[in-house]
This record gives sequence, structure tokens and C-alpha cells, in this order.
Amino acid sequence: MPVRNSAKTESVGRPANCARIVHPTTKIRPLFASTRILVRMPNEICKMCGAVRELVSSHLIGAALYDYCRNPGCSPIRVGGGRVFPTDRQTQVYLLCNDCETVLNREGETWVSPKLATMEREFPLFDLLTKRQPAWEEDNTRIYMVADNPDIEAGMLAHFAMGMFWKAGVHSWRNGDHSTKIELGPYVDPIRKWLIGKELFPKNVCLQVAVSPPERAQILFIEPYEGRRSDWRSFFVYILGVLFVIHVGRSVVNAAEYCFYQNPGHPIWISEKIDSDFEKVFLRQFRRSHKTQAFLRAKERRDQMLSRSF
Ligand SMILES: [Zn+2]
Repeated sequence: MPVRNSAKTESVGRPANCARIVHPTTKIRPLFASTRILVRMPNEICKMCGAVRELVSSHLIGAALYDYCRNPGCSPIRVGGGRVFPTDRQTQVYLLCNDCETVLNREGETWVSPKLATMEREFPLFDLLTKRQPAWEEDNTRIYMVADNPDIEAGMLAHFAMGMFWKAGVHSWRNGDHSTKIELGPYVDPIRKWLIGKELFPKNVCLQVAVSPPERAQILFIEPYEGRRSDWRSFFVYILGVLFVIHVGRSVVNAAEYCFYQNPGHPIWISEKIDSDFEKVFLRQFRRSHKTQAFLRAKERRDQMLSRSF
């Protein structure tokens, strides 16, 4: 069931709404590599380079990030389709050739993945970001300019985010559903060409990035979804403490100022209001969802483990 996202983000632009929180099933494989059966796929058109090649299994959210959501002895908890349940299933499909999958890994995922928030409340990206003074601060909102910080690769962060939005814009990631997960319209191909280095960052596209403090970071994913429509369209994805938003449309004319990638300072936000709004969205969805017996058993095991550890 869609939920209304109250994230009126003065800082990250437009209000979001209508989030489908998390994870449909697509092509599903066991998590454990030892049980994976390698299947040689027929040659098909790679969505990214357009060549007819053997495709490899691609994840909407990088495979390495699923382990971040795993409690000891318990599968990651998934909220979706009106239910809360533990599962090792991952959202993946045969979408790209190996070369294009390598581009996504090399240009973004490999650098970003180890810097995201963990259950142990470690958050390397936050630590790197806040080693420097913010460029602007007011009312529990801070803006950091990554261009002044040699420890943060702005291009990698942008590529990581845009890769997820693009993959959601070219495939449904749901069995039997032929529509794309999000509708990027005429922007999907310019984003593709930027991802493979053939064109500059597309016009009328604005990417924004907000990071939560470790104590507020949610250890979960929210796959790409569209927020409330206005003069332009806005899409959101939340990954382990980092919220990415893109605004697309002819009305997006000030991207050079507000866009994380196009602004030469590469601004990142840390905002109490953004964190608070996001927590309300997730809690509302969680409370509305049916708690399966499997979830309740997993929760009981986790509570027992925690009580023994003190
Ligand atoms: Zn390819």
C-alpha cells in the first residue's frame, strides 16, 4: 500500500510522497554463494551499452549491502506488500553485460558500499564528511561542501545514486510486471549515457544527497520510488543512512546551484528535519504492515540474544 511521505524537505527540495517501501521479488536466488547454481544465459541486449551479449545477474541495490541489514542469526527484515517478514531474497535480474556491471561497480558501488551505516552505529561516510567544518549551518541543518574534502569522492557517490535510479527506470524489478519501477521518461537515456561516460550530466536533472548522523541512520533500504508530483518529478532512494533524491523536468532550471554533482562545491546535507520526516514515513509504513509469525519469531530470537549480551 502506498504511504504518504511527509518529507517536506526545504533542504532537499520538494515534498516526497507515495513511497512503496522496499523490496518486491524479482529473480530470486539464495544468498549463500555456495548454493548458487551458475546458469549460462543466452545472449540478449544489454540495457546499458545496447550490445547483444551474455547478461549477468544485476542487483537493484548492490549485493554487498544486504549483509548490512542482517542481525546475527537472523535474515534481513523486509517491509513490503503490506507485510513485515525476514528473508534472504535479493532483488536481481539479468539486465547488463559483465562490462557494464563492472562500470557500475568501479565508478560508484565499490567506493560507496563500505562507507555506509552499520548496525554497530559505525558510519564512515558521516565521519569523513564531518571532519571538515560545514559551509552553512542553521536550525539543526548543516551543508558540507565535499569539494573541500579530499576523503570523499563526489563522482563515486553521484554514480552510485544515479545507477540505482537508472536501473529502476529501465526495469520493473518485479516478476510479471512489464512497466518500469519508476518513470524517468526522456531522462533515462541521458542518464545512461552519463553513467557510461558518453555525455555530460543531463540537463534538467538535479541530484541531492542527505546523510543521517549514525544514531539516526536507518539500517535498511527503500528502493527507488516517486514522490509527490509538482512542476517536476522527484524520485527518492534511501540506503543505510543516505537519502538520494533526483528531480527531473523542464522546470528544473537551477540544477547547477542545487545539484550535488553539478554544483562544483558538491553540497551534502545533514538535517534534523529530513531525518525526522523520514522516520515518520518508515514508522507509518511499518505500523500499517502485518507482522508475520516469521518476523515475530526472528524478533524474539534477537531480543533474547540482546538480553544475553548484557
Ligand atoms: Zn553492456
